[in-house]
Amino acid sequence: MPELNRRQFIAAGAGALAVTSVLRPVPAGAAPFGSSDTTIPAPPNFPAGIPLYQQRYQNWSKEIILDAIWTCSPVTPDDVVRLANWAHENSYRIRPRGAMHGWTPLTIVNGENIDRVVLVDTMVHLNGISVDPSTSTVTAGAGATIEAMLAQLEDNGLGWVSVPAPGVLSVAGALAVDAHGAAIPAAGETPVAGTTYGSLSNLVTSLTAVVWNGSAYALRTFDRSEPEITPLLTHLGRAFLTSVTMQAGANSRMRCQSYTDIGWREMFGATGAPGRTFESYLGRTGRVEAIWYPFTENPWLKVWSICPDKPVTAREVTGPYNYAFSDNLPEVASDLIGQLTAGNTFIAPAFGQVFYGTTVAGLAATASSDLWGWAKDLQFYIKPSTLLLTEGGGAVITNRADVAQVIHDFTQWFSERVAYYQSIGQFPINGPVEIRCCGMDAAADVLVDSAGPPTISAMRPRPDHPEWDTAVWLNVLGVPGTPGMFAFYREMEQWMRSHYTGTTATFRPEWSKGWAFSTELPYKDAAVIEDTLPNTYREGVPASENWDTARATFDSLDPHRIYSNTFIDRLLP
Ligand SMILES: Cc1cc2nc3c(=O)[nH]c(=O)nc-3n(C[C@H](O)[C@H](O)[C@H](O)COP(=O)(O)OP(=O)(O)OC[C@H]3O[C@@H](n4cnc5c(N)ncnc54)[C@H](O)[C@@H]3O)c2cc1C
Repeated sequence: MPELNRRQFIAAGAGALAVTSVLRPVPAGAAPFGSSDTTIPAPPNFPAGIPLYQQRYQNWSKEIILDAIWTCSPVTPDDVVRLANWAHENSYRIRPRGAMHGWTPLTIVNGENIDRVVLVDTMVHLNGISVDPSTSTVTAGAGATIEAMLAQLEDNGLGWVSVPAPGVLSVAGALAVDAHGAAIPAAGETPVAGTTYGSLSNLVTSLTAVVWNGSAYALRTFDRSEPEITPLLTHLGRAFLTSVTMQAGANSRMRCQSYTDIGWREMFGATGAPGRTFESYLGRTGRVEAIWYPFTENPWLKVWSICPDKPVTAREVTGPYNYAFSDNLPEVASDLIGQLTAGNTFIAPAFGQVFYGTTVAGLAATASSDLWGWAKDLQFYIKPSTLLLTEGGGAVITNRADVAQVIHDFTQWFSERVAYYQSIGQFPINGPVEIRCCGMDAAADVLVDSAGPPTISAMRPRPDHPEWDTAVWLNVLGVPGTPGMFAFYREMEQWMRSHYTGTTATFRPEWSKGWAFSTELPYKDAAVIEDTLPNTYREGVPASENWDTARATFDSLDPHRIYSNTFIDRLLP
């Protein structure tokens, strides 16, 4: 992290801005304000003392890339207050930024004018964590990673039952999009007090945000009992959180067993089907993920279970990310990706076989088919070095008894469509299908007085269907740039929305992933963005707590829309 040198200091000229950059180091590779390496006009009157620099922005799948955008890293929550008031007074927008570990245009929109936009990286300084064992809570700065939070919780005998797969996510980035894990209670399991099978958002007991107080932007702490907190629990980037307090429960040991010898037709059998079905494992342990590589027979099934004592056959692990073979591509796979992006899509079946073969060999070579350790070491299993793929899909909200049917119907549809495209020489999909389940944002899980579940979380319970207690996450991945991929995602999204409807299920977006597909791109279908998605949060919920009231709260807390971008302006106008 280089300080400005003397030449850069002089170039920066006198005044607060020069002092700003000199006082605080900037991240490696960034061009500090005032240096001759900057290429875009600097924001005027920028608040003193907050490191400001030009930096590259790149989302996970590299589908949203900016070579240079002004970025800053506030050191304290009060810095964020100064930033917000500066943005308001100077007609700028500020976009909070975490790990950039996502797909959506909820931070920055490809190609939008960024002349009056500053990114705010919370992960550099706003990342403190403290655990209060007396209340079983953890308080963290917005930019703390969920892995660091769980490490400190673990040191205090605490944990969460349902956690996203990568640990590098910032907590505020994860909460913005109702991040979730893959757990429902096993048959007969007693839920651990303090945790939830729903979204991380449902664990929040209070949060602090920078909001408009009638005359200026200021810090305000919202307790879970305050009605205005519910839209802030999942806000899609339409707010700025500086810290959160989240409840936790007793930590546990877990086991994760992998299977690669079950045919997909058996695994994805309909409700009550015999054999080694997804449904049967879900009943036994409540924690299952299937990864089904394209054009292969046997998915990779992970089955996690709560397991206080180490089974003799299991290997003990003492840290997360234990599937190194899936985080580090073999050369043959990278070569195949090059072929796919060059337009030779017909090699998709070979691609699937390579991945299946790598998984079987990797599990054996690293003795990873049966692992045991502390919960977080089994729950985190995706590293940033894993294959960069794009994703489409969503959540089917249904009754647990119908999960197998949901999965059966989808996998039948998927295999028929893929076979059809193959028959006409097209291969729009070349990544795996991923299937997981989690619970809902149940009111009973919250241990403090609560105003309710996150208003626009996909796991928000439907009062008119209390029997819908499970979210089934159906995702399909693909190599960015594959011809026909987005048209396939569009067809799939429309099929899911029309198939999972009525009295047995509803379909909701997975906010962090791809949705509203046109035939060319995600996030482009105007009817879905402007009507269908908002309606998802009007159906079956009280008019006093729905999409429209969430929008009204966002507007009252940020009437000047400094926390928005051109895409959010359409989604949450
Ligand atoms: C390989 C991979 C695997 C994943 N697995 C899972 C999974 O298992 N489960 C799951 O639920 N999700 C998963 N995700 C999605 C992930 O949870 C989201 O993309 C999440 O938003 C990423 O967090 P981030 O820190 O990278 O946030 P960013 O991508 O940087 O930001 C995301 C949003 O949060 C907003 N934001 C960031 N900081 C703040 C703040 N301080 N205040 C207000 N808003 C803020 C941003 O403005 C933006 O709108 C996965 C993503 C990847 C790439």
